[in-house]
Amino acid sequence: MKILDAGLTFSGAAPSAGVQEKIDAVVLHHRAGAGDVNSIHAQHLAQGWWGIGYHYYVRKNGEVWRGRPEKYAGSHAGASNGYNLHSIGVCFEGNFEKDTMPDAQLTAGLELLADICSRYEIVELKTHGELAATACPGKNFPLAKFRSRFSEIRAGDVQTGGTQTDYSADAVKWAQESGVLLGTPGGDLRLDEAATRREVLVFLYRALNAEK
Ligand SMILES: [Zn+2]
Repeated sequence: MKILDAGLTFSGAAPSAGVQEKIDAVVLHHRAGAGDVNSIHAQHLAQGWWGIGYHYYVRKNGEVWRGRPEKYAGSHAGASNGYNLHSIGVCFEGNFEKDTMPDAQLTAGLELLADICSRYEIVELKTHGELAATACPGKNFPLAKFRSRFSEIRAGDVQTGGTQTDYSADAVKWAQESGVLLGTPGGDLRLDEAATRREVLVFLYRALNAEK
């Protein structure tokens, strides 16, 4: 996926919290407002922080901007729970206490989640509100869609690093083209049904003969 870089300049060599101990969680936020990544960066610098506290910023138009480099501890999840030291903080432009998320932003957010999961063993998807006393990311935030995609990724049904795809597509195409998988006379491949050992043997027999 395309991640845009605004070339943000951080204040000093490294944030006080240092590097992340590990990365195994993603924490979702909303901005509770609008504006570009530079404006959040400026706001967080003005608070005396190293710079933007989030690792990514997803705009309403679907643009994904790089924030704080992933390896550094974020400043987004609340100080006391430790999540800043083992998570990627993703902020969404808008105020989802009142806004609803545009499709472009939702799609980009789901792709970003898959992208992060392709690079780290992410075991938890959290909202800021689950970690601290805040309404963030807002009652209209499409959390169920993120949870559902996260479950699919965890189950291996989504090829990470991009859009949702059928992980078996190449294999199915090969099986049809080589005559290994013929399906019913009506053309139904019955892809989600279990195979008997007899069927498995037939597939193997056809595959081995197809290679010749
Ligand atoms: Zn938040």
